[in-house]
Amino acid sequence: NNTINKIAAGEVVERPASVVKELVENSIDAQATSISIEIVNGGKKYIRVTDNGTGIINDDIKLAFLRHSTSKIKKVEDLERITSLGFRGEALASIASVAQVQLLSKTKDSLSGRQVDVHGGEIISNKEVGCPKGTTVIVKNLFYNTPVRKKFLKSDNAESSHISETIYRLALGNPNIAFKYIKDNKLILKTPGNGDIYSTIYSLYGKEFADSLIKINYNGDDIKIDGYIAKPSYTRGNRNFQYFYVNGRFIKSRLLSKTLENEYKSLIPINKYPVCILYIDTNAKNIDANVHPTKIEIRFKNESILKYILSKSIKVALEEKNL
Ligand code: ADP
Ligand code: MG
Repeated sequence: NNTINKIAAGEVVERPASVVKELVENSIDAQATSISIEIVNGGKKYIRVTDNGTGIINDDIKLAFLRHSTSKIKKVEDLERITSLGFRGEALASIASVAQVQLLSKTKDSLSGRQVDVHGGEIISNKEVGCPKGTTVIVKNLFYNTPVRKKFLKSDNAESSHISETIYRLALGNPNIAFKYIKDNKLILKTPGNGDIYSTIYSLYGKEFADSLIKINYNGDDIKIDGYIAKPSYTRGNRNFQYFYVNGRFIKSRLLSKTLENEYKSLIPINKYPVCILYIDTNAKNIDANVHPTKIEIRFKNESILKYILSKSIKVALEEKNL
Protein backbone atom coordinates (compact mmCIF):
# COMPACT_ATOMS: atom_id res chain seq x y z
CA ASN A 1 0.00 0.00 0.00
CA ASN A 2 0.92 3.57 -0.47
CA THR A 3 2.21 4.45 2.97
CA ILE A 4 4.50 1.45 2.97
CA ASN A 5 5.71 2.45 -0.49
CA LYS A 6 6.41 5.96 0.70
CA ILE A 7 8.38 4.66 3.67
CA ALA A 8 10.26 2.18 1.50
CA ALA A 9 11.03 5.00 -0.89
CA GLY A 10 13.20 6.49 1.83
CA GLU A 11 15.54 3.53 1.56
CA VAL A 12 15.75 3.32 -2.22
CA VAL A 13 15.21 6.92 -3.26
CA GLU A 14 17.39 9.27 -1.34
CA ARG A 15 17.80 11.89 -4.03
CA PRO A 16 17.47 12.38 -7.81
CA ALA A 17 20.74 10.50 -8.37
CA SER A 18 19.28 7.37 -6.75
CA VAL A 19 16.34 7.56 -9.18
CA VAL A 20 18.76 7.77 -12.08
CA LYS A 21 20.75 4.83 -10.74
CA GLU A 22 17.68 2.59 -10.29
CA LEU A 23 16.24 3.46 -13.70
CA VAL A 24 19.51 2.97 -15.55
CA GLU A 25 20.12 -0.33 -13.75
CA ASN A 26 16.69 -1.48 -14.92
CA SER A 27 17.68 -0.57 -18.47
CA ILE A 28 20.92 -2.51 -18.09
CA ASP A 29 19.01 -5.50 -16.73
CA ALA A 30 16.73 -5.25 -19.77
CA GLN A 31 19.75 -5.78 -22.06
CA ALA A 32 19.72 -2.28 -23.45
CA THR A 33 22.63 -1.38 -25.75
CA SER A 34 21.75 2.28 -25.72
CA ILE A 35 20.58 4.37 -22.75
CA SER A 36 19.87 8.06 -22.73
CA ILE A 37 19.36 10.13 -19.61
CA GLU A 38 17.95 13.62 -19.48
CA ILE A 39 17.52 15.79 -16.42
CA VAL A 40 16.22 19.26 -15.64
CA ASN A 41 16.94 21.27 -12.47
CA GLY A 42 19.24 18.74 -10.87
CA GLY A 43 16.66 16.03 -11.56
CA LYS A 44 14.27 17.58 -9.08
CA LYS A 45 11.87 18.70 -11.76
CA TYR A 46 12.46 16.12 -14.48
CA ILE A 47 14.36 12.88 -15.04
CA ARG A 48 13.97 10.81 -18.18
CA VAL A 49 15.68 7.50 -18.90
CA THR A 50 15.13 5.90 -22.31
CA ASP A 51 16.46 2.53 -23.37
CA ASN A 52 16.27 0.17 -26.32
CA GLY A 53 15.99 -2.92 -24.11
CA THR A 54 13.50 -5.75 -24.07
CA GLY A 55 10.57 -3.59 -22.98
CA ILE A 56 7.82 -4.80 -20.70
CA ILE A 57 4.96 -7.00 -21.86
CA ASN A 58 1.74 -4.94 -21.81
CA ASP A 59 0.04 -6.95 -19.10
CA ASP A 60 3.08 -6.69 -16.82
CA ILE A 61 3.44 -2.93 -16.82
CA LYS A 62 1.01 -2.36 -13.98
CA LEU A 63 2.76 -5.13 -12.03
CA ALA A 64 6.08 -3.39 -12.45
CA PHE A 65 4.80 -0.67 -10.12
CA LEU A 66 3.81 -3.11 -7.39
CA ARG A 67 6.13 -3.44 -4.44
CA HIS A 68 8.10 -6.69 -4.40
CA SER A 69 7.04 -7.47 -7.90
CA THR A 70 10.07 -8.36 -9.94
CA SER A 71 10.52 -10.35 -13.10
CA LYS A 72 14.05 -11.18 -12.10
CA ILE A 73 13.71 -13.74 -9.32
CA LYS A 74 11.57 -16.78 -9.92
CA LYS A 75 12.71 -19.13 -7.20
CA VAL A 76 14.39 -18.83 -3.84
CA GLU A 77 17.45 -20.59 -5.25
CA ASP A 78 17.84 -17.72 -7.70
CA LEU A 79 18.85 -15.57 -4.76
CA GLU A 80 22.07 -17.54 -4.60
CA ARG A 81 23.16 -16.53 -8.06
CA ILE A 82 21.84 -13.12 -8.82
CA THR A 83 23.23 -11.68 -12.00
CA SER A 84 20.77 -8.83 -12.47
CA LEU A 85 21.37 -5.52 -10.70
CA GLY A 86 17.84 -5.28 -9.37
CA PHE A 87 15.92 -8.13 -7.84
CA ARG A 88 13.91 -6.73 -4.98
CA GLY A 89 11.17 -5.20 -7.09
CA GLU A 90 11.14 -2.05 -4.98
CA ALA A 91 12.51 0.74 -7.10
CA LEU A 92 9.65 1.58 -9.45
CA ALA A 93 7.02 1.27 -6.72
CA SER A 94 9.07 3.47 -4.40
CA ILE A 95 9.82 6.12 -7.00
CA ALA A 96 6.22 6.23 -8.21
CA SER A 97 4.98 6.74 -4.65
CA VAL A 98 6.92 9.99 -4.25
CA ALA A 99 6.78 11.47 -7.77
CA GLN A 100 4.76 11.75 -10.96
CA VAL A 101 5.92 8.90 -13.12
CA GLN A 102 5.18 8.06 -16.70
CA LEU A 103 6.33 4.77 -18.16
CA LEU A 104 6.23 3.95 -21.85
CA SER A 105 7.25 0.54 -23.05
CA LYS A 106 7.06 -1.80 -25.99
CA THR A 107 8.49 -5.25 -26.60
CA LYS A 108 9.76 -6.26 -30.01
CA ASP A 109 6.85 -8.63 -30.61
CA SER A 110 4.11 -6.25 -29.59
CA LEU A 111 2.43 -4.11 -32.25
CA SER A 112 1.77 -1.18 -29.96
CA GLY A 113 3.27 0.14 -26.79
CA ARG A 114 1.72 1.09 -23.52
CA GLN A 115 1.81 4.24 -21.43
CA VAL A 116 1.11 4.15 -17.74
CA ASP A 117 0.98 7.24 -15.53
CA VAL A 118 1.37 6.87 -11.79
CA HIS A 119 1.17 9.89 -9.51
CA GLY A 120 1.98 9.45 -5.84
CA GLY A 121 1.37 5.72 -6.13
CA GLU A 122 -2.01 6.02 -7.88
CA ILE A 123 -2.39 4.79 -11.43
CA ILE A 124 -4.06 7.70 -13.19
CA SER A 125 -3.93 6.44 -16.74
CA ASN A 126 -3.06 3.30 -18.65
CA LYS A 127 -3.38 3.35 -22.39
CA GLU A 128 -2.14 2.00 -25.68
CA VAL A 129 0.35 4.23 -27.50
CA GLY A 130 2.77 4.05 -30.37
CA CYS A 131 6.40 3.97 -29.29
CA PRO A 132 9.67 2.34 -30.33
CA LYS A 133 10.89 -0.93 -28.79
CA GLY A 134 12.27 -0.38 -25.32
CA THR A 135 11.30 1.59 -22.26
CA THR A 136 11.13 5.22 -21.26
CA VAL A 137 10.55 6.28 -17.68
CA ILE A 138 9.89 9.93 -16.89
CA VAL A 139 9.99 11.05 -13.27
CA LYS A 140 8.61 14.50 -12.58
CA ASN A 141 8.58 16.56 -9.39
CA LEU A 142 10.35 14.15 -7.09
CA PHE A 143 9.08 14.31 -3.49
CA TYR A 144 6.20 16.62 -4.50
CA ASN A 145 4.00 14.81 -1.95
CA THR A 146 6.65 14.49 0.77
CA PRO A 147 7.59 18.14 1.46
CA VAL A 148 9.97 17.29 4.28
CA ARG A 149 12.08 15.07 2.04
CA LYS A 150 11.92 17.66 -0.70
CA LYS A 151 13.31 20.27 1.64
CA PHE A 152 16.39 18.13 2.25
CA LEU A 153 17.41 18.16 -1.40
CA LYS A 154 20.45 20.28 -2.18
CA SER A 155 20.88 22.92 -4.87
CA ASP A 156 20.39 22.01 -8.54
CA ASN A 157 24.16 22.04 -8.99
CA ALA A 158 24.79 19.74 -6.05
CA GLU A 159 22.10 17.27 -7.13
CA SER A 160 23.39 17.41 -10.73
CA SER A 161 26.88 16.51 -9.66
CA HIS A 162 25.57 13.45 -7.79
CA ILE A 163 23.74 12.43 -10.96
CA SER A 164 26.78 13.05 -13.07
CA GLU A 165 28.93 10.87 -10.80
CA THR A 166 26.27 8.14 -10.93
CA ILE A 167 26.27 8.21 -14.73
CA TYR A 168 30.07 8.18 -14.99
CA ARG A 169 30.17 5.10 -12.75
CA LEU A 170 27.53 3.33 -14.82
CA ALA A 171 29.02 4.35 -18.18
CA LEU A 172 32.54 3.26 -17.20
CA GLY A 173 31.17 0.01 -15.85
CA ASN A 174 29.29 -0.77 -19.04
CA PRO A 175 31.51 0.03 -22.02
CA ASN A 176 29.27 -2.14 -24.20
CA ILE A 177 26.36 0.27 -23.69
CA ALA A 178 26.14 3.63 -25.47
CA PHE A 179 25.27 6.25 -22.87
CA LYS A 180 24.05 9.74 -23.54
CA TYR A 181 23.47 12.31 -20.82
CA ILE A 182 21.67 15.59 -21.38
CA LYS A 183 21.44 18.16 -18.61
CA ASP A 184 19.22 21.21 -18.91
CA ASN A 185 19.15 20.76 -22.71
CA LYS A 186 22.93 20.47 -22.97
CA LEU A 187 24.71 17.30 -24.07
CA ILE A 188 27.10 16.41 -21.24
CA LEU A 189 28.48 13.06 -22.31
CA LYS A 190 28.22 10.37 -24.92
CA THR A 191 29.99 7.01 -24.91
CA PRO A 192 30.52 4.81 -27.98
CA GLY A 193 29.12 1.59 -26.53
CA ASN A 194 31.57 -0.45 -28.57
CA GLY A 195 32.76 -2.53 -25.63
CA ASP A 196 36.19 -0.93 -25.63
CA ILE A 197 37.30 0.44 -22.27
CA TYR A 198 39.90 2.79 -23.70
CA SER A 199 37.55 4.55 -26.11
CA THR A 200 34.91 4.79 -23.41
CA ILE A 201 37.40 6.50 -21.09
CA TYR A 202 38.57 8.73 -23.95
CA SER A 203 34.99 9.80 -24.71
CA LEU A 204 34.37 10.68 -21.06
CA TYR A 205 37.63 12.38 -20.09
CA GLY A 206 39.35 13.41 -23.31
CA LYS A 207 42.79 12.98 -24.78
CA GLU A 208 45.03 14.28 -22.03
CA PHE A 209 43.71 11.81 -19.50
CA ALA A 210 43.57 8.94 -21.99
CA ASP A 211 47.23 9.55 -22.81
CA SER A 212 48.12 9.18 -19.14
CA LEU A 213 46.85 5.63 -18.95
CA ILE A 214 48.82 2.47 -18.26
CA LYS A 215 47.19 -0.82 -19.11
CA ILE A 216 46.67 -3.44 -16.39
CA ASN A 217 45.94 -6.99 -17.32
CA TYR A 218 46.04 -10.11 -15.21
CA ASN A 219 44.45 -13.32 -16.30
CA GLY A 220 44.36 -15.89 -13.54
CA ASP A 221 42.06 -18.86 -13.15
CA ASP A 222 40.24 -17.37 -10.22
CA ILE A 223 40.83 -13.65 -10.61
CA LYS A 224 41.03 -11.47 -13.70
CA ILE A 225 42.01 -7.82 -13.66
CA ASP A 226 41.59 -5.48 -16.60
CA GLY A 227 41.61 -1.71 -17.04
CA TYR A 228 43.98 1.19 -16.50
CA ILE A 229 45.94 3.08 -13.93
CA ALA A 230 47.01 6.67 -14.61
CA LYS A 231 50.60 7.85 -14.70
CA PRO A 232 51.88 9.21 -11.38
CA SER A 233 51.91 12.69 -12.93
CA TYR A 234 48.12 12.51 -13.03
CA THR A 235 46.80 12.58 -9.48
CA ARG A 236 43.81 13.83 -7.52
CA GLY A 237 43.30 15.39 -4.11
CA ASN A 238 40.87 12.65 -3.10
CA ARG A 239 39.84 9.10 -3.99
CA ASN A 240 36.94 10.09 -6.23
CA PHE A 241 38.85 9.16 -9.35
CA GLN A 242 39.50 5.59 -8.25
CA TYR A 243 37.00 3.47 -10.09
CA PHE A 244 36.94 -0.17 -9.06
CA TYR A 245 34.46 -2.64 -10.51
CA VAL A 246 33.99 -6.12 -9.17
CA ASN A 247 32.06 -8.43 -11.47
CA GLY A 248 30.72 -5.40 -13.30
CA ARG A 249 29.54 -3.56 -10.21
CA PHE A 250 31.06 -0.28 -9.05
CA ILE A 251 32.46 -0.62 -5.56
CA LYS A 252 34.45 1.30 -3.01
CA SER A 253 37.03 -0.72 -1.17
CA ARG A 254 39.61 0.43 1.31
CA LEU A 255 41.59 -2.71 0.62
CA LEU A 256 41.83 -2.02 -3.11
CA SER A 257 42.47 1.72 -2.68
CA LYS A 258 45.23 1.11 -0.13
CA THR A 259 46.81 -1.53 -2.35
CA LEU A 260 46.85 0.87 -5.29
CA GLU A 261 48.14 3.77 -3.22
CA ASN A 262 50.91 1.66 -1.75
CA GLU A 263 52.40 1.07 -5.21
CA TYR A 264 52.41 4.81 -5.95
CA LYS A 265 53.77 5.82 -2.56
CA SER A 266 57.24 6.70 -3.69
CA LEU A 267 56.05 8.27 -6.95
CA ILE A 268 53.52 10.90 -5.96
CA PRO A 269 53.22 13.67 -3.34
CA ILE A 270 52.01 12.59 0.06
CA ASN A 271 48.68 14.45 -0.11
CA LYS A 272 47.78 13.16 -3.58
CA TYR A 273 45.88 10.08 -4.68
CA PRO A 274 46.51 7.88 -7.71
CA VAL A 275 43.80 7.41 -10.29
CA CYS A 276 42.52 4.15 -11.74
CA ILE A 277 39.72 2.48 -13.63
CA LEU A 278 40.03 -1.21 -12.83
CA TYR A 279 37.76 -4.17 -13.46
CA ILE A 280 38.16 -7.23 -11.26
CA ASP A 281 36.32 -10.37 -12.20
CA THR A 282 36.16 -13.28 -9.84
CA ASN A 283 33.89 -16.14 -8.99
CA ALA A 284 30.92 -14.91 -6.96
CA LYS A 285 31.91 -17.41 -4.25
CA ASN A 286 34.96 -15.27 -3.47
CA ILE A 287 32.78 -12.37 -2.46
CA ASP A 288 30.86 -12.03 0.77
CA ALA A 289 27.24 -12.27 -0.33
CA ASN A 290 25.91 -10.82 2.89
CA VAL A 291 26.70 -7.28 1.94
CA HIS A 292 23.56 -5.30 1.17
CA PRO A 293 22.95 -5.00 -2.60
CA THR A 294 22.47 -1.23 -2.61
CA LYS A 295 25.67 -0.69 -0.70
CA ILE A 296 28.80 -0.13 -2.68
CA GLU A 297 31.12 -1.55 -0.08
CA ILE A 298 32.18 -5.14 -0.56
CA ARG A 299 34.08 -7.83 1.32
CA PHE A 300 36.36 -10.39 -0.24
CA LYS A 301 36.75 -13.82 1.26
CA ASN A 302 40.41 -14.09 0.42
CA GLU A 303 41.77 -10.60 0.75
CA SER A 304 45.44 -11.46 0.83
CA ILE A 305 45.47 -13.20 -2.56
CA LEU A 306 43.59 -10.37 -4.22
CA LYS A 307 45.85 -7.81 -2.61
CA TYR A 308 48.93 -9.71 -3.75
CA ILE A 309 47.72 -10.03 -7.36
CA LEU A 310 46.64 -6.41 -7.62
CA SER A 311 49.82 -4.96 -6.18
CA LYS A 312 51.96 -7.21 -8.36
CA SER A 313 50.03 -6.22 -11.50
CA ILE A 314 50.40 -2.53 -10.72
CA LYS A 315 54.07 -2.87 -9.79
CA VAL A 316 54.89 -4.65 -13.05
CA ALA A 317 52.92 -2.11 -15.12
CA LEU A 318 54.66 0.84 -13.47
CA GLU A 319 58.07 -0.78 -13.86
CA GLU A 320 57.51 -1.47 -17.55
CA LYS A 321 56.93 2.25 -18.02
CA ASN A 322 60.11 2.93 -16.04
CA LEU A 323 58.22 4.84 -13.39
P1 ADP B 1 13.68 -4.89 -9.84
O1 ADP B 1 14.63 -4.20 -10.76
O2 ADP B 1 14.28 -5.09 -8.48
O3 ADP B 1 13.06 -6.13 -10.42
P2 ADP B 1 12.08 -2.51 -10.15
O4 ADP B 1 11.04 -1.90 -9.29
O5 ADP B 1 13.30 -1.72 -10.43
O6 ADP B 1 12.46 -3.92 -9.53
O7 ADP B 1 11.39 -2.90 -11.52
C1 ADP B 1 10.25 -3.74 -11.49
C2 ADP B 1 10.12 -4.56 -12.76
O8 ADP B 1 9.79 -3.70 -13.85
C3 ADP B 1 11.41 -5.25 -13.20
O9 ADP B 1 11.54 -6.50 -12.57
C4 ADP B 1 11.21 -5.39 -14.69
O10 ADP B 1 10.43 -6.53 -14.98
C5 ADP B 1 10.37 -4.17 -15.05
N1 ADP B 1 11.19 -3.08 -15.61
C6 ADP B 1 11.51 -1.92 -14.99
N2 ADP B 1 12.24 -1.12 -15.79
C7 ADP B 1 12.40 -1.79 -16.95
C8 ADP B 1 13.08 -1.50 -18.21
N3 ADP B 1 13.74 -0.35 -18.39
N4 ADP B 1 13.01 -2.43 -19.18
C9 ADP B 1 12.33 -3.59 -19.00
N5 ADP B 1 11.68 -3.92 -17.85
C10 ADP B 1 11.72 -3.03 -16.84
MG1 MG C 1 15.36 -2.31 -10.52
